[in-house]
Amino acid sequence: MNNCIFCKIVRREMPSQKVYDDDDLLAFHDINPVAQVHIILIPKLHLVSLMETNDSHTALLGKMLLLAPKLAKEQGLNNGFRTIINTGKGGGQEVFHLHIHIIGGNIPPMVRRD
Ligand code: AMP
Ligand code: ZN
Repeated sequence: MNNCIFCKIVRREMPSQKVYDDDDLLAFHDINPVAQVHIILIPKLHLVSLMETNDSHTALLGKMLLLAPKLAKEQGLNNGFRTIINTGKGGGQEVFHLHIHIIGGNIPPMVRRD
């Protein structure tokens, strides 16, 4: 048994507000949203980050990316959305189970140049 928060959510040892669930993937509302819509999409398989992925994960990663716009639309984000994958400490990752943030609503440009 690992101690990973997202694995605990997969094993239903921790609650989550699920929006999607199948054999491979799970999506739920972020506990601390940064915008009107903030969904976390994870593989049920414990992968630490994109750094730990390889060719054996091609289908899984493709499935995640293809699901993202469907979930965004279901959340009412018909006009677009932002996906973020933080990778490793240097990428600002805090939960070390690969996940895609799906964020939308009234969001500013990601990078301000002023
Ligand atoms: P990251 O910095 O990319 O690792 O983001 C981790 C995200 O997971 C943050 O946006 C947290 O708010 C979110 N988070 C942490 N714990 C939970 C939880 N129990 N349920 C839902 N979201 C969570
Ligand atoms: Zn995990």
